[in-house]
Amino acid sequence: MNGITKSAGIVFFREDRVLLVYHKEKAKHQTGVYGIPAGRLEPGENELDAAIRETFNETQIKVKSNDLLSLPDVYQAEIKRKRENPRIFSLKVFVCASFEDCPKETDETIPEWVKISELNKLNLLPNVKSLIFGAMELKEISKEDLLKSEDFSPLGACWNITSNCNYSCVFCYAKKDSKNKLDLEKQKNIISRLRSAGILYITFSGGEPLLVKHLTKLIKYAKDLGMYTDLSTNGANMTESILEDIEKSLDKLSIPLDGSNNEVIYKIRGIKNHMQVFYKVLTFIKNKNIQLNINTLVCKFNESDLFNLFEILKSVNKINRWKLIRYYPLGQGLKEFILSKERFNEIISKIIKQTSPFQIVAKMKTEDDQRSFILVDPDGKIYLTAKNKHIILGDIFKEDLRNILKKNCVFNKKGHVEKYSRYATKVSC
Ligand code: SF4
Repeated sequence: MNGITKSAGIVFFREDRVLLVYHKEKAKHQTGVYGIPAGRLEPGENELDAAIRETFNETQIKVKSNDLLSLPDVYQAEIKRKRENPRIFSLKVFVCASFEDCPKETDETIPEWVKISELNKLNLLPNVKSLIFGAMELKEISKEDLLKSEDFSPLGACWNITSNCNYSCVFCYAKKDSKNKLDLEKQKNIISRLRSAGILYITFSGGEPLLVKHLTKLIKYAKDLGMYTDLSTNGANMTESILEDIEKSLDKLSIPLDGSNNEVIYKIRGIKNHMQVFYKVLTFIKNKNIQLNINTLVCKFNESDLFNLFEILKSVNKINRWKLIRYYPLGQGLKEFILSKERFNEIISKIIKQTSPFQIVAKMKTEDDQRSFILVDPDGKIYLTAKNKHIILGDIFKEDLRNILKKNCVFNKKGHVEKYSRYATKVSC
């Protein structure tokens, strides 16, 4: 990873608070910014040792390596420095399961227990919010505990808030027949019901969610309820003012990019200028503290273009994750574009051998994959798609969500657990 400085740090939780360090005048970071205890690796040092050493330097807390859990994602960001040019840092994060010392002020830093719900009020280093939410997932979700637990509550929901869309993808499975009938209060009610059922992670998807009038208010509302927020949009209707409006409430933005040029993308998405849309969104998000993920559906149209696309993504200093999904038709999707599993694996194994500044995740998309998170339709109905049929399981306005899931025995607990613990591997097919 040329030009990227490796660093490592530790997240500590105490009840609803997280330990941050405030950087003082003597620190190399800009004065007044908050980060987790962290710092760069010394020559020959590994990430674990660097995290322990830097944490002691910044907080005086002594940590044992046995008490640290490793967060699978590596976080990357360009960070402004006081006495040098901005640098790109990759940050390996650990979560501390047990510690005894009280944090103490040092010459460069003041440790502070900060309420997680109040993170947005602080001047945070890039990615701090995302990594804290990542750490919360790891801390709260132990794979073994989840698999044992009888009263298992799902943690992620994908709300397909509208089925209307301004694109015409050849494989689209959204049924473009629904009008948005719910007013803002009802839409907020869907979010609060999801939250009451224990859901921490919400993806706003569609159709195209930016066609929904109150979308920004809904994202802010979900954030106020303490949820991790993800917006999955094709990006065409994104504007700088929308992103500025939701910057403090949106954790992750996911946009599709299926090829390296408009010609390839047109065959798949039916849109002639999606490359321009991609670069537009990139300009808007570049200096914002929002994670950017790129999703690529791999099918017969783009299999030979993926390395060109990879080169473009590598040239962009903002992407956190590239997700390659084997196209599999759901609902109305067409079957002609499917690549065989063998061909998909062949392509992916070549890609992940390359050095990459971002995480690469690849997966086979199957109907079963849906059972690892809750799907919610525009009207608040819980559903799944199976054998090309849209199956409604219940209505969130008429029945407690936990009952809906219990009654239908549809939720794939193992699949869900795997979803939240799979990030450690690059390929999970
Ligand atoms: S952007 Fe998404 S919802 Fe819109 S047509 Fe394409 S696949 Fe369907």
